[in-house]
Amino acid sequence: MNYKDIAQALQEPFPNGTVQFPSSSKRQAHIPVQVYINRLEKVAGEHWSWTIIGEPMIVEADNAVIVKGELSILGAKRGGMGFSHYVRGKDSKSVSAFKNAVNAAESDAIRSACDKFLMGWSDLAPYRDWGSNAGIDINLNNRTEAIPEKDVERVCQRCAKKLTDVDQLFLEVNRIKLPYCTEHVPKHLIKKT
Ligand SMILES: [Zn+2]
Repeated sequence: MNYKDIAQALQEPFPNGTVQFPSSSKRQAHIPVQVYINRLEKVAGEHWSWTIIGEPMIVEADNAVIVKGELSILGAKRGGMGFSHYVRGKDSKSVSAFKNAVNAAESDAIRSACDKFLMGWSDLAPYRDWGSNAGIDINLNNRTEAIPEKDVERVCQRCAKKLTDVDQLFLEVNRIKLPYCTEHVPKHLIKKT
């Protein structure tokens, strides 16, 4: 096993439906930490490890907890930092909520370290500003072709909002293949008639 092979396998796209959208207004697409761990375990097995660095940091002003750690894959190390909000209080409910917040911050840190190994990039690129950057050479085409278009709930590449019938019609009229809501269709793609 060499690092290049492992890294390549780690960066493979995840199955359709892996990316999740929180119901909050942020519309931040993300991949659950379990998906990353499952991939690490399957691909790297005994050759990966995660170490928490120091104690969780508490930012009282923001009711936030920050966890730092390091993901090691066959000797290659990448740091990750994650954070989560907690509810202030001293009762047992608040204590267990705080524990959950520390766990959530750790999960967030693992995700951010995985991100530095380029894991999940091809899955998240459609929802990120950097996804269409020419300097990013991940191949998205293979993936979109592999999924029958009708089976996929189409969401705007920019804001991840589900496309309405009006949006779909607008794309069709302009012969635009990429999913965008009418608000976010790049101007240069709109047919000038
Ligand atoms: Zn949009």
